[in-house]
Amino acid sequence: MTAIPLPHVASARGSYLYDEDGRDYLDASSGVLNVNLGHGDPAVIAAITEQLGQVAFVHRSQFSSRPLRLLTEQLLAVAPAGTAHVEYANSGSEANECALRIALAYHHRTGSPGRTVVMSEQPSYHGMTAGALTLTGQPAKVDASFAPLLTNGTIADGSRVLPAPGALRAGRQEWAAALDRAGRERVAAVFVEPVGGASSGAAPMDDETLRWLRAEADRSGFLLVADEVMCGFGRTGRWWGCDHAGMAPDLLTSGKGLSGGYTSLAVTLVGARVAGAFDKPLGSVVLGHTMSGNPLAAAASLAVLRRLRADELPARAARLGAGLAARLAVLAAKHPVITAVRGRGLMLGLGLAGRPEHPLAVSRALVSSAREHGLVLCPGGIDHVTESVMVAPPLTSTEGELDELARRLDAALDTLASRTTSAVGA
Ligand code: PMP
Repeated sequence: MTAIPLPHVASARGSYLYDEDGRDYLDASSGVLNVNLGHGDPAVIAAITEQLGQVAFVHRSQFSSRPLRLLTEQLLAVAPAGTAHVEYANSGSEANECALRIALAYHHRTGSPGRTVVMSEQPSYHGMTAGALTLTGQPAKVDASFAPLLTNGTIADGSRVLPAPGALRAGRQEWAAALDRAGRERVAAVFVEPVGGASSGAAPMDDETLRWLRAEADRSGFLLVADEVMCGFGRTGRWWGCDHAGMAPDLLTSGKGLSGGYTSLAVTLVGARVAGAFDKPLGSVVLGHTMSGNPLAAAASLAVLRRLRADELPARAARLGAGLAARLAVLAAKHPVITAVRGRGLMLGLGLAGRPEHPLAVSRALVSSAREHGLVLCPGGIDHVTESVMVAPPLTSTEGELDELARRLDAALDTLASRTTSAVGA
């Protein structure tokens, strides 16, 4: 199969990208749901430039830095209730690896070293490093040749929780049955995406199931880890995906929107009970990476976080998201290929009528016809059942841009329909 060459991006401002031929693209994917402030934000550029002139790197074992100290303060101010500690990493995958290490170290220190099973859902996406990939419930990402990398026996496939037939997310019954099978006394941690990412096309987890898992974690002694790498930092219309269910996890990982795509930075937020089990500073137990918490990335994220707070962008995402969902519902009524409009805030997904013989063909065709119409969408799904695209413009979008988004999407859906008709007719 010949891949269609990608356009070469030349520049970007706000919600728009421009290619080398001067064509514009409305970025309804916010990069990959990380460019939450849009492109070319002057305050972030200024903060990065200023920090570069001062000091770009120090190792965290030798120095802290002003931007890192201020960022940690700002993070603790917006973190879920009970957060006591912030661990830094460079990617969402690393933040999840860190959460895995913390969970295992926690049980070891609190007298339960036999708790080694870590559970996650299918479909889900937790990253591409070995531990995060083992957690990932997305078979297409796990090539058979990777098997020796994966931690068989501890985070085994058997610990993956599948939704009931026809559902996109596992509910309370499926989780309860999976915990029974694993044996609750062996479970170290349960990883969930409060709003699913590309694997399910922005399918939210049921709030009641999330609250039940919280209570079950307390009763049974495992840790609840919320992977909010994609849905954190206001994307869903609240600061955290967990806020919709009114609960706080033991560990929360996030990344993407934290730096807005300007640098690499991710975090593992650690609750007081977990942090309190360590007699040494947590960082010296779970360690980190050369670039973890470097001053340059901290300065960029500090500027992003200040803007998110000052302009109350999570609330803006809730407002804009309601209007965008309504526009998408109008398109769904017109275009039968759309089977569902779902998601939260500005993390929205369109379920698409898939073809069992060609899984993901429809979402790929829609993404490419959207690009032809100057619109960037995020492809989603792992099979014809979860076939979807995500519609997730920057939190700074204007109403006019959302109108333009809907116009371009309508045209892309018309093109998709005409191609499908001519392919069937041919
Ligand atoms: N978890 C979730 C929910 C994600 O969406 C992603 C990235 N798409 C990751 C983890 C991995 O993050 P990264 O690509 O930064 O390693």
